[in-house]
Amino acid sequence: PAAGERLLEVDAVRKQFGGLVAVNDVSFAVDAGQIVALIGPNGAGKSTTFNLVTGVLPLTAGAVRWRGQAIGGMPSRAIARLGISRTFQHVKMIPEMTVLENVALGGYGRTKAGVLQAMLRLDRAEERRLFAEAERQLARIGMAAQMHELAGNLALGPQRLMEIARALATDPALLLLDEPAAGLRHHEKHALAEVLRQLKAEGMSLLLVEHDMDFVMGLADRVVVMEFGTRLIEGTPAEVQASPEVRAAYLGT
Ligand code: ADP
Ligand code: MG
Repeated sequence: PAAGERLLEVDAVRKQFGGLVAVNDVSFAVDAGQIVALIGPNGAGKSTTFNLVTGVLPLTAGAVRWRGQAIGGMPSRAIARLGISRTFQHVKMIPEMTVLENVALGGYGRTKAGVLQAMLRLDRAEERRLFAEAERQLARIGMAAQMHELAGNLALGPQRLMEIARALATDPALLLLDEPAAGLRHHEKHALAEVLRQLKAEGMSLLLVEHDMDFVMGLADRVVVMEFGTRLIEGTPAEVQASPEVRAAYLGT
């Protein structure tokens, strides 16, 4: 995509779970080359919004457009093929497989047996291609040295980077990260922020959910603040930080 092109448009989306309105009339956009952050307290509807964008959940109302095309109601695999890739709030990996295997084959299943079975069905050329791509993405985010370690032996910071490599391996135009910094140590957050800045410099577009306002302030081009399922405010990090509503609702000051 050309820099500045409107990639993702979330237009008045709504999601109800029975009587609970988890996401209510939320709108925002992501343009090519931007980092957009969705922040807000627990339960604000951030992960649900991700699930609406990626087709994990059906919309109750509203529309999601990808480069102008309505994608609401499309299955998540089809949405992924359009160039939207994501990580989940809880790391999804097979701990007893290596980092490289997780990145190369992680899309094939949640259990070691399932992945091994999928591998048996792959032809050699396809398998080589998957591993080469995984290796390339791990090198890209600075994890070449840990490629052959067991995923389960990694600290949380490198596990999150591994998941980002896996999401990158599908060659997305937009990467959605659900709370990539949650639970990380200070130096791991710093390393993650550096990787995200580098991806942006390479032309990647990012939408990230964060609980931690400080983490996104030096990183995001635009910030969308959610509260109780609604969009409280959207703006640059400086605008959001200066907003009295945000200070009252989110920062508690
Ligand atoms: P956040 O990611 O901002 O912490 P979520 O999007 O996970 O918030 O949740 C928003 C609200 O929707 C919460 O009240 C949560 O309990 C509810 N919720 C999320 N997923 C489901 C679901 N599958 N079924 C019922 N309620 C859900
Ligand atoms: Mg969440």
